[in-house]
Amino acid sequence: MKLLNRSPYLKDIQHQISTYIPLPDAQPEVFSIYQQWLYTRGLYTKMVVKEAALGSFHSSHRDEWTKLTESYLLGHKLADIDFRDRVIDGMLEWLNETTNYTYDLSMVVDNIAQIYAALKDPPEDHPLRRLISDIVSLEFTDAMIQKMVIDRKGELPGGFLLNLVSKLSAKSGTSTPSSNCPKLPELREACHYHCHGKGECYREK
Ligand SMILES: [Zn+2]
Repeated sequence: MKLLNRSPYLKDIQHQISTYIPLPDAQPEVFSIYQQWLYTRGLYTKMVVKEAALGSFHSSHRDEWTKLTESYLLGHKLADIDFRDRVIDGMLEWLNETTNYTYDLSMVVDNIAQIYAALKDPPEDHPLRRLISDIVSLEFTDAMIQKMVIDRKGELPGGFLLNLVSKLSAKSGTSTPSSNCPKLPELREACHYHCHGKGECYREK
């Protein structure tokens, strides 16, 4: 079965069970996104036009960000590197679209506590951790950062806040020359936030 061939996690547990594969914490909608990826190599996280027409641009983009982050967490749980990297590219596409229409990116920290908990306090170089702290430090205005810290007091993970302080310091030029100011995430080279390392990128397969 294709599903079992693609995921080390599913391979590990296929010997323990015969007909039912538990995927704790994965919403059916998110698992459906993963199934579509397996069979078509496409990432379908956008609302269909009819659904999107009923909501605002803001709510449909918020909904898509939630699906993207939950899809990433499922890919992490299933140890599917290609899917994780495809979802990261989906997040960068989402970022491009969102910044073209609105400067409100506040939803990228909506579920940050859940992300850090699911990834078990990820290391500093974890791709999703780097991406989110890059978005906040480079694309949020000072007013947005102040509002985020006040509105979400107590819910922002310590590791995220440490990253943020360090990156804001670099951005302001207090520890890094302005000529070395980091690029916006959506302008980075293709594999910057991928996790395949020296392995082949899904784009080349
Ligand atoms: Zn890559």
